[in-house]
Amino acid sequence: MPFKSLQPDIEVPHDLTVWDWLFTDPRYSPIHRFPESELAGYQNAITKERLNWKQVKEVTTYLSTALVKKYGLKQGETVALFSQNSIWYPVAMLGTLRAGGMVSGASPAYNSEEMTYALKTAKAKFLMTHPSSMEIATTAAKNAGIPKQNLFLLEGKLDGYTTIKELIEMGKNYGESDQIPAFKIPAGKTNFDVCGFLSFSSGTTGLPKAVMIAHSNVIAQCHQIQQITPSDHNKVLAVLPLFHITGLVHGLHLPALINAEVIMLPSFTMKQMLDTIVEYQIRELLLVPPIVIRLVRDPIVDKYDLGFIRRFSSGAAPLSEEILHLLQQKFPQTGFKQGYGMTESCSCITAHPPDMYEYKYAHAVGTICASTMVKIVKDDGTEAGVGEPGEILAKGPQVVMGYLDNEKATRETFDQDGYLHTGDQGVIDESGLITITDRIKEMIKVKGIGVAPAELEDLLLGHEKVEDVAVLAVKDEYAGELPKAYVVLKPGVEQSDEVGRELLKYVREKKVKHKHVKEVEFCQEIPKSASGKILRRVLRDKSRGADHGV
Ligand code: AMP
Repeated sequence: MPFKSLQPDIEVPHDLTVWDWLFTDPRYSPIHRFPESELAGYQNAITKERLNWKQVKEVTTYLSTALVKKYGLKQGETVALFSQNSIWYPVAMLGTLRAGGMVSGASPAYNSEEMTYALKTAKAKFLMTHPSSMEIATTAAKNAGIPKQNLFLLEGKLDGYTTIKELIEMGKNYGESDQIPAFKIPAGKTNFDVCGFLSFSSGTTGLPKAVMIAHSNVIAQCHQIQQITPSDHNKVLAVLPLFHITGLVHGLHLPALINAEVIMLPSFTMKQMLDTIVEYQIRELLLVPPIVIRLVRDPIVDKYDLGFIRRFSSGAAPLSEEILHLLQQKFPQTGFKQGYGMTESCSCITAHPPDMYEYKYAHAVGTICASTMVKIVKDDGTEAGVGEPGEILAKGPQVVMGYLDNEKATRETFDQDGYLHTGDQGVIDESGLITITDRIKEMIKVKGIGVAPAELEDLLLGHEKVEDVAVLAVKDEYAGELPKAYVVLKPGVEQSDEVGRELLKYVREKKVKHKHVKEVEFCQEIPKSASGKILRRVLRDKSRGADHGV
């Protein structure tokens, strides 16, 4: 029998788009639920540029009109966002949704090859970017067949490019009565059938894929989290990137639903983050493990009085007991909560409810979110009971539609009963708390961002000296994990430190920093199954054995 949530079920409206849910429906829209003077919004922590929800509604209306009437954006077409955090990021996203388009975010650190892959996979027709990413954006757009006039700037100015502010002005010039109507869920469909977002994840195996996230998934996840969010959570530090599902949900949509001010940090430095936390007196901080580690280890933290912080929240990757202990010691006034999930579950499958914010529960990733069921499946295929580890399977309104144009991967990941196979191993206890015990899928988590081993293996196989290769995760104190390559060299090529360094450099030149390989180990063969699949567990166990001197 599946494990059920202990929370009361949530009601998900089936007929609303995300835009109508946030801006027109009186049951949910902050504009209807709060007086104008109390409306929160998106704010740039550095420049102080700010838009409240009412202004966001206005500018996204104008933006959608300009995109459709002037640039011919059609329903179901993709607008890609390639930028650091900015208050114009949600504007671009919500404006596209209002026009009936889909939004696809990509890491602003991508190089042109990675960005080209992202644009092609998401079939993007438009690209919005930041001046600092324009060079890469231009090359990638050209490679992906996006015409220059469909390339826009989210911030700043550059000769020859239209800015989002100019687009908004163009839309406004049509006049109030000539704005396009907001896109509605087509007759005969529900918001579970209409994709609004394409985010990248390698899932349990293979290359990064475009995950199709329905309007309903984001709405459901926000209601699930709202239900367990204390009312003092009225300021959100958006330091996590908005292209990742955690930022997209918790830093962009959820704050609008709960009328919490979003303080956007365009880029991360420890000093800037701490200055901002103090300036805005932010009491709850949503972070990822590498930043939590910096909080307990970086001496700069001691220069700040952070006694007003009430709780920390972490997700996207595991956090060690040692770091949790140090965190509690350093900030004894705080509570702690975690969220666990994946892009394919539109963020959280589990999260800590308010009565479990004490550190004694912090080793776990919380309890099952509302309206969600979890099965834990043992190696022999039978369902585990309390205390027995197995693979976590989840079913709920936040579980996404599947992968764009990839039926095979969709079928392998989302089973016929509607359960998402997470590739994570966990165990549930008597109180309903789930603890992650292992990751059995291929993904490597570097600073909370997923890296697909297959992507690095494909790259290394293209090197003239490499006969065969497998890439696995190795532990790293700060990043959590880093990729390590096991390499079989071509016949006649001598194993040497020099060749190892050459391979590391080769990856460094071709991939964004978080995908860089930490080390190369040469071996005679890569263990494979009869069907040619890399036996990662065998390799991992062998390597663990080697670490222990066996
Ligand atoms: P992503 O799709 O990038 O969000 O990656 C999802 C994966 O990150 C999950 O399948 C887990 O392996 C890992 N993950 C997410 N949250 C946690 C957490 N709180 N603790 C441990 N691992 C996590």
